[in-house]
Amino acid sequence: MDTGLKNRVAIVAASSQGIGRAAAEAFAAEGCRVAMCARNPEALQTAAKKIQKQYSAEVLAEALDVTDPSAVHRFVEAVVSNFGGVDICVTNAGGPPAKGFLAASLEDWRKAVDLNFLSTVYFAREVIPHMQRKHWGRIITITSITTKQPVADLVLSNAVRAAVVGLVKSLANEFGKDGILVNNVGPGYTATDRLKELAKSRSAVLGKNENEIFESWAMDSPLKRLGEPREVADTIVWLASERASYITGQTVLVDGGLYKGL
Ligand code: NAD
Repeated sequence: MDTGLKNRVAIVAASSQGIGRAAAEAFAAEGCRVAMCARNPEALQTAAKKIQKQYSAEVLAEALDVTDPSAVHRFVEAVVSNFGGVDICVTNAGGPPAKGFLAASLEDWRKAVDLNFLSTVYFAREVIPHMQRKHWGRIITITSITTKQPVADLVLSNAVRAAVVGLVKSLANEFGKDGILVNNVGPGYTATDRLKELAKSRSAVLGKNENEIFESWAMDSPLKRLGEPREVADTIVWLASERASYITGQTVLVDGGLYKGL
């Protein structure tokens, strides 16, 4: 399948590890020029160098916090000045802590809004004018299955990520006329460090060991296994590609069938 992505410029936020890193790698494999960012400079540079070498790709990497709008502004400007524009922007960040409603402080709520909602707003504000100029663009948000089906003890994710879906649909409506497609990808249980974190807190709550928690998550989906970051990344690349040119404003779950609704 020709994705038509060769030489496209793809920003992937929060991409030193996990799903973001897998997405950066998958875009490099398609011949894209890739711009990566994350907070930890060492982990980010290690990931960027590996991708650069493996795919002979042009990779720009800059350590930043996605909750800092000025840093996001400078990063997008650097991408445009190095690569001549920006075609694809995948917004991503770490997940909020696992908590029930009464355990979550107001500070937890503010941080979750900053990390998982406003960070998307910051990137969208920066990249849309560049995409409008080219009359071509793809914005893909990484959220969670929680946008369709709340998960126990993830009240921060269950509530805040719904705002991202509202934003995605609004941007899709407003900027479709400019050739900009905006979609959301919701992973189910995917084997990354984030899932290890969640297993640890779930095991403390339920008094089970972490392997039992992983097993129960795997068994909850019809495919009876966890997802791999690459499987989420491939969906992101497909949504960015010319093969998905009539899809906008949608949420695509990559969850092995975990979502129980129709
Ligand atoms: P991960 O913890 O493995 O990786 C998160 C990445 O985000 C890292 O590169 C980290 O450096 C970066 N990051 C975190 N906070 C940042 C910040 N403030 N600024 C810049 N970079 C930051 O997580 P993952 O499993 O790859 O998950 C990616 C997203 O998908 C998260 O929002 C997560 O909650 C969500 N998600 C994951 C799963 C899963 O099972 N793994 C399921 C549903 C949703």
